[in-house]
Amino acid sequence: AQTELIRAQRFESLAMLAGGLSHDLRNLLQPLLFAGESLRDHAEDPQLARLGALVRDCGKRGLDMVQSMLSFARGARRAEQVRLGALMDALGLLLQGSVPRAIHMGMVVDAPELTFAGNHTELQQCLLNLCLNAIQAMPEGGELRIETAQERLDAEFFMSDEQSHPGRHLRLSVIDNGPGMSREVLARLFEPFFTTKENGTGLGLLSCRRIVVSHGGVMRVDSAPGRGTRFDLYIPLQELAADTAEANGDDSDSLEG
Ligand code: ADP
Repeated sequence: AQTELIRAQRFESLAMLAGGLSHDLRNLLQPLLFAGESLRDHAEDPQLARLGALVRDCGKRGLDMVQSMLSFARGARRAEQVRLGALMDALGLLLQGSVPRAIHMGMVVDAPELTFAGNHTELQQCLLNLCLNAIQAMPEGGELRIETAQERLDAEFFMSDEQSHPGRHLRLSVIDNGPGMSREVLARLFEPFFTTKENGTGLGLLSCRRIVVSHGGVMRVDSAPGRGTRFDLYIPLQELAADTAEANGDDSDSLEG
């Protein structure tokens, strides 16, 4: 429990640092982006316009990184009633523009009318991260599958260092048949700033896990070289009403953490 606590504290300080830093960086980058854009669009000298475009693109990349740092650092938002169908529709819409032709995407939603206590925006962000990772892992194309299911998890399912809420869960799965991950990559997957991408932030999966944990859930990954990658998010199905949460003996504000 001691190491668990130290890990949690480290994680919190890191989140605070990232949060503070990204606010300042955003304030610096926004004018840079604006200046680059103006130069690109209005400079008479083509050389200057090219420089403007370069400044603009770097600024944009920086802002994207800051955005993912911010969403990692932001604490969980309030619990609301999430409708599974609406969540998956929103995800589908967001993905529409980002799925290259060579990628075949399939989505199976088992119970669109299902509602549960959670945060739509956060879960959407989390799923989007996983899908974009899958897409980026398959530059030559491949299959991206998104599935939902309901499963009852018993106490044995949970590992000793995980929060366990045995009972009914929603499983959200993102599955790709890309190159998969080596043991070395898998071992470092949730390390802050660990990335194998040139422009990666290494915060995507950490931020996903943070969101899942703040929903009282757990996240599993199954991946091997040549066998593709599968992420499963298990979100406990809880009603929004506070009295229901109390009746289950849950801490009803687990979403605030
Ligand atoms: P980033 O995407 O910025 O690199 P992440 O935390 O989201 O940060 O991912 C960390 C690393 O995990 C990636 O750089 C990549 O090596 C690996 N990874 C994540 N998802 C997949 C996937 N679906 N297939 C293969 N590798 C993946």
